[in-house]
Amino acid sequence: MPANAPSGSQGAIASSALVSGDKSRTTFSIVLSKGVKAEIVTLANPYRVIIDMPEVVFRLPAGAGRGAIGLSQAFRYGLFAEGKARIVIDTEGPVAIDRADMKPLAEGAGLKLSIDFVPMEAAAFGGGTGAARAAAAAAHAREQKPTVHEEHTEKPKSRAKPVVMIDPGHGGIDPGAIGGSNLYEKTVVLLVAQQLKSALVATGRYKVVLTRQTDVFVSLDQRLKLSREHAPDLFISLHADSIDAKNLTQVIRGASVYTLSERASDSLARLMAEKENASDLIAGLESSDGEGQDEVRSILIDLLKRETANFSADFSRTLVSKLGKAIPVSRDPMRAAAFKVLKQTGSPSVLVELGYMSNDDDEKLMKSESWQKQVSTSIAQAVDQYFSRRAVGSR
Ligand code: ZN
Repeated sequence: MPANAPSGSQGAIASSALVSGDKSRTTFSIVLSKGVKAEIVTLANPYRVIIDMPEVVFRLPAGAGRGAIGLSQAFRYGLFAEGKARIVIDTEGPVAIDRADMKPLAEGAGLKLSIDFVPMEAAAFGGGTGAARAAAAAAHAREQKPTVHEEHTEKPKSRAKPVVMIDPGHGGIDPGAIGGSNLYEKTVVLLVAQQLKSALVATGRYKVVLTRQTDVFVSLDQRLKLSREHAPDLFISLHADSIDAKNLTQVIRGASVYTLSERASDSLARLMAEKENASDLIAGLESSDGEGQDEVRSILIDLLKRETANFSADFSRTLVSKLGKAIPVSRDPMRAAAFKVLKQTGSPSVLVELGYMSNDDDEKLMKSESWQKQVSTSIAQAVDQYFSRRAVGSR
């Protein structure tokens, strides 16, 4: 259901958003500095309302979207791709969009986009808005090329320097874990990624590529595609954990380094992989018919070279030892699980969970510039040690 309004070429600013009503009718409204074209669709598995708009700058208060009101369980917002903003409202069950409009507010105060949704029968869901549109959107998202920043544009064959790909997790519509004081995982990992890039580039020894440089969503498939294209000598994915169990949040903390394994090293590791693998779902891409886990398996059997796995494990050991000297690490910091983003065919890859957003001490640390500096410095040192050992050993 499109809600049209006069639009301009510059992005609109979203300054406030509100959910009101009850379980018989719920209204979502958002104030925009000017009109945009909004596309509204509903999706199942899980049930959601998705609002797509051209680029919108979100200036909503911290914590906006958290908490259940009426049929809405929570909502998220952010960039879905370059120039595409998205709002995802998680709903309690199947809903139908009953009304959508964009009305001007008082002079100079912008416009208000309001959407009413009402409950509907699950059996009747999917007849109109959801499935086909979502499939098209997913296909489109897969085609979208994320922006990649490169230091040089050499071909992989004529490499003068090892290529390190840094992969800050989440972004845009997918915030990742959210800390008690509303710190977003996507923000922390991007800050660390940028500092790590600076540290590596400063040595003059590496070419560094980021999978995202801004607060934009990049799907797991896009990240893997980028890795295939650039064939990095090392792939480092950056994340920050969170644990839901209330009795454990203040106990479990510290950094962990994960390598790819079909069999998780422990149940917590398995849980983390499941959470991180759900990123595409969180961003409103359709779940791909149970594809995820099986795909990881077949890649493991078919393609993962022993050598790559050995290099990943080697870097993981080096990294844990360097991190352990700089920041708190978890009790069992070398772990393995079936993270989709680690299913790399030829590039040694690790996923670093920098700490637990759910732990107040960790969250406080992650906010501090000195922690971010220490983390990026120690990862850079580990990269140096890893490559210097390879240069001596095999070249
Ligand atoms: Zn994450």
